[in-house]
Amino acid sequence: MLGPVILAASRSDRMRRLISAAPVTKQVVDRFIPGETVDEILPIVRELTDNGLELTMDVVGEDITTPEQAEAARDAYLELIDRLKPLELGERAEMSVKLSMFGQALPGGHELALANVRRVVEAAAEIGTTVTLDAEDHTTLDSMFAIHEELRKDFPQTGCVIQAYLFRTEEDARRLAAAGSRVRLVKGAYKEPAEVAYQQKHEIDKAYVRILRTLMEGEGYPMIGSHDPRLIAIAQELARTAGRKLDEYEFQMLYGIRSEEHHRLAAEGHRMRVYTAYGTDWYGYFMRRLAEKPANLRFFARSMITK
Ligand code: FAD
Repeated sequence: MLGPVILAASRSDRMRRLISAAPVTKQVVDRFIPGETVDEILPIVRELTDNGLELTMDVVGEDITTPEQAEAARDAYLELIDRLKPLELGERAEMSVKLSMFGQALPGGHELALANVRRVVEAAAEIGTTVTLDAEDHTTLDSMFAIHEELRKDFPQTGCVIQAYLFRTEEDARRLAAAGSRVRLVKGAYKEPAEVAYQQKHEIDKAYVRILRTLMEGEGYPMIGSHDPRLIAIAQELARTAGRKLDEYEFQMLYGIRSEEHHRLAAEGHRMRVYTAYGTDWYGYFMRRLAEKPANLRFFARSMITK
């Protein structure tokens, strides 16, 4: 029951101010968002890649309110890409972006977000890597898929995310399971109404398996975004029966969650990509991590009380 309450708080400005200002928050935040600046995050990039892991990097932020903030978000990614260049990691470090951070919800936002993200996709291509468009709440998805399609005309390797909890996703998956596409499947992290999304965990898990089967049997490149041990085992089985080799799909998990599993899968020869978020505007990202596991909230509340 706590999850929906926390997700509602993730959209509250008052809660944002309260939680962001609490002095102990940072220690808890650091588990999921291990840096605020490029200088702080680059050693983490090196450590993960030295240990056989790959990354998708997120400069945290969303729901900006002016075009200038959208440009600043774009520039933060451009700076990151510039700093990654000498490391010559290529596809081992790709970017994940939220279009709301690039201005999608502003007037004329679809075009603005497309123009901003295009610059990032171009810069990523110049250093031999790519970009995946994160999926936000369901009202943003038609625009996200249209931008994805537009970008793929020039940069076919651009990826996107689909969310198993949405009724629409089985249809989206059939469309996207085509040659050359890169699709990350996740359960979904936003508070969605019963008109558009499954509400029960077992329904979401069953949908996840159906959609994953479509992706595995299709011609694209599935990216399995989950920490759920049952789904990971099912994914391995589906990949095997679809005749996929180890480099024809990949696992993805979030930084700070089930890290031992990242290493186990990589040691088995799987491609394992760690979604690594950094930056100062971490509130929305952090609150979704709390909502996913109530024990995180108890830990957070305890540190507020005992400090
Ligand atoms: P769950 O059943 O939630 O978790 C399985 C197990 O993993 C839990 O029992 C627990 O041990 C562990 N676990 C899961 N979450 C946490 C946590 N926060 N803290 C501690 N332990 C935890 N969602 C979107 O809506 N859009 C996106 O673009 C998006 N991108 C993502 C990218 C990646 C790489 C990943 C891994 C997730 C992404 N998500 C995204 C979040 C996703 O939708 C889920 O909310 C999240 O992954 C939790 O679901 P799960 O599949 O891990 O399964």
